[in-house]
This record gives sequence, structure tokens and C-alpha cells, in this order.
Amino acid sequence: MPDTVDTAALAGWLEEFARLITAERDLLTRLDSAIGDADHGVNLDRGMTAVLAANADGLPATPAELLKRTGMTLVSRVGGASGPLYGTAFLRMATAAGPAPALDARGFAKALRAGLDGVVARGKAQAGDKTMYDALAPAIDALDAALDTGQPLHAALTAAVQAAEQGREATIAMVARKGRASYLGERSAGHQDPGATSVTLLLAAAATTLCVD
Ligand code: ADP
Ligand code: MG
Repeated sequence: MPDTVDTAALAGWLEEFARLITAERDLLTRLDSAIGDADHGVNLDRGMTAVLAANADGLPATPAELLKRTGMTLVSRVGGASGPLYGTAFLRMATAAGPAPALDARGFAKALRAGLDGVVARGKAQAGDKTMYDALAPAIDALDAALDTGQPLHAALTAAVQAAEQGREATIAMVARKGRASYLGERSAGHQDPGATSVTLLLAAAATTLCVD
């Protein structure tokens, strides 16, 4: 059976992401306290709790509607820099998903890339700025590359997680040029970026929930 990501599958992804954010909330707080204001874990946990509450009341008919509702919830509930960035990512994913009742592997990868483009449009981050971009961009490149070689979505997402983890680790040495951490200048080096850490969890949640046999 070809890989299919429908609304229920996306809801499962979001549920697992929320679970990971809760589990890693203290780590995210610790990372953000070193180079920011210690709220990244709490911000995302609040937002994802609201997303899950809405899903528990019922799922919309299409992936696009669920992604749009998720994006709007994150924009309004997460706050900080990451609320608009995560929110925009999901809103752009919604637009890319279109009216289809389900996405295939390519469709899901295209939606993720549209989300990344939204992060860039809103936050203007480039590679090496020590942001979520540094984990997300290589992950989506790896996802596309794996799909290009004919791998199924689950295997391609597993490759994407490895690339995200490498990107996340690479943020440790970087000097922040965007967001709150940039106020520290050179002193931001030596610390892992919180946003790069949370987007790695977003991809890890996809790899363990979507199209797993
Ligand atoms: P705030 O910095 O407002 O407290 P959060 O702590 O929730 O917001 O999120 C911080 C994370 O947001 C950073 O670790 C970084 O990954 C990400 N971030 C900040 N600014 C940008 C930007 N311009 N582009 C991409 N990501 C960014
Ligand atoms: Mg913060």
C-alpha cells in the first residue's frame, strides 16, 4: 500500500510531538535559560496542550484544515519568537496540503518544505544563525533525498531525524545571529539551540508515528 498521511495520522503525529515536548520540557527550559529566557519548553507545552484539546473535541475532514487550526492555535498560545515561527510553519503546511483528504509521501515532504519556507519568510534565518532552521533545513533536505532514491516515507523520515540531530548538535558551536540568543554575541557559543532541539522532536514524532507498519 502506498504511504498515506490522512488527518488521523497527522493527529497522531501531533499527539506524539506534544508527548515529547512534555517529556523534554525541562531540557528545553534548561537550554533556553542558558542563551534565552527559559520559556521555550513551557511555551511549546502550553501550545501543544491546546492543540491536543482541540483535537480531542473532533478532527476536521482534511489535513489542511487540521494543519491550519494547529498553526492558528500555536500562533495564539505559544508566544515568544517560536509561536509565530511554529504557527507560520503549520499554516504554510496547510496551504501546501490543499484540499486533498490525504497526503502521499511527496505531499507530506512538500508540506514540510513549505513550512520551512514559512519559518524563513517570518524569521529571516539563514544556515549557521543558530536557530531551528539549522536542524529543520538539513532534515528536509535529507527527507527529499531519501524519497528521491525511492525509500518509503518511514525510512525517509528516519534519515531526516538523523540529519536534524546532526544539525541540532552543530548549533552548539554556533554564535547566534537571530533571536534572543543573538544578544549574547560570542557568549552564545557552546550551548545547544532550544528551537533546533524542539524541531528535532517534531521530526522524531513524525518518524515514529507516520506510515509505521
Ligand atoms: P523567545 O526567544 O522569544 O523566548 P522561544 O524561547 O520560545 O522564544 O524560542 C526560541 C527559539 O526560537 C530559538 O532557540 C530559535 O531556535 C528560534 N528562533 C528565534 N528567532 C528565530 C528566527 N529569526 N528564525 C528562526 N528561528 C528563530
Ligand atoms: Mg525563550
